[in-house]
Amino acid sequence: MILEKYSFGLGDRFGRQGKAQLQAMINAKEQAVQITPVWNKSHREHTLIGTEPAGVRAEADAAVKALGWEGSHYVDADHIGLANVDLFMDSSDFFTLDVADFMGKNAAEDEISAFVNKHSKYIGSLAIPGIDETIEITKEQISKISRKVLFAIKEAGRIYRHIKSAKGADNFVTEVSMDETDSPQMPIEVLFILAAIADEGIPAQTIAPKFTGRFNKGVDYVGDVTQFEKEFSQDLAVIAFAVKEFGLPKNLKLSIHSGSDKFSIYKPINKALKKFDAGLHIKTAGTTWLEEIVGLAIAGGSGLAIAKQIYQQALSRFDELCGPYETVIDIDKEKLPAPEIVDRWGPAEYADALRHNQSCDKYNANFRQLLHVAYKIAAEMGEDYLNALEKHEKVIAEQVTENIYLRHITPIFID
Ligand SMILES: [Zn+2]
Repeated sequence: MILEKYSFGLGDRFGRQGKAQLQAMINAKEQAVQITPVWNKSHREHTLIGTEPAGVRAEADAAVKALGWEGSHYVDADHIGLANVDLFMDSSDFFTLDVADFMGKNAAEDEISAFVNKHSKYIGSLAIPGIDETIEITKEQISKISRKVLFAIKEAGRIYRHIKSAKGADNFVTEVSMDETDSPQMPIEVLFILAAIADEGIPAQTIAPKFTGRFNKGVDYVGDVTQFEKEFSQDLAVIAFAVKEFGLPKNLKLSIHSGSDKFSIYKPINKALKKFDAGLHIKTAGTTWLEEIVGLAIAGGSGLAIAKQIYQQALSRFDELCGPYETVIDIDKEKLPAPEIVDRWGPAEYADALRHNQSCDKYNANFRQLLHVAYKIAAEMGEDYLNALEKHEKVIAEQVTENIYLRHITPIFID
């Protein structure tokens, strides 16, 4: 399977918005931009919500059928490892091998020295087309990088071979992710990570490094946009170089995780993709769930009541809900609206506070982040929540499609 140039990772916590999400790809196609939908859900998400991998496959296939989508589509086993990959084997044809937990563990000394020797020809000044300055590489650097990443990439190899033996090499797409680590990977590290991936025989079609800056859940990028732009462009140059140099798949491209809502870097990304004629995979997950809440609020009546109920409960369970997301949210508690205030809100006030429209002065990033991590509450509501989604399907679907198409696809791939 060969993943297309542009692809979009769609997360759908409750599995009800497949059609509304796919509609955004159809809108793009009408603008002559082909974007392949990839529905992704991690083991962690399945566990928290109480869903099964087969449900994502059923949702994706049903959406594709209902809307007559003729392009390909994929179901991504997101952030899996050897411990849980088997749960996804039947339903997925895209596997994100997460080796972040193995970063920094040391490979055997002889493996490290073999790696350094094999790649010693890069010691000195390396010119990579598309990067203005030459990169100075020392033996110590290669050794240091291999100590950090080699063990993890070998683990990725074990996961890859396990999937290959179950499914056959041509029947799935492989991504290698290391975004959930502490420190960002510089382009030179990406180069040797790709060397190790090639050595391990992993036909990676996407790679998710950790980029510089903060990719908080559901809100804009926080960091130095100029620095991001520089590193992103250099990563694209390194990938193009590595494809030729190491014989990796020709369609290998970057994957941006927690990619939703990073509005301030979409323009630099768009520019760099055009400059390098490069592909991109961008993953989003929680965005769609927040649009469900926006839609429920706009619906008013019982919809708005549920939206308020979820916020009230989220406030009272703040620590429990925020704990697992501690490193990827930044909530100023002082700026969260008090429950009695939210209680008086009408549909527009609730929607304006939540919807990620930075030009609206009622938008509240703290309110938004808390709701982002509050999906567990909706999951606990069970049928009550799902029935509300069904009852207000039309208005919710409009929010979901508009969010993906206008706020994400348009600035990244079309404008
Ligand atoms: Zn990720």
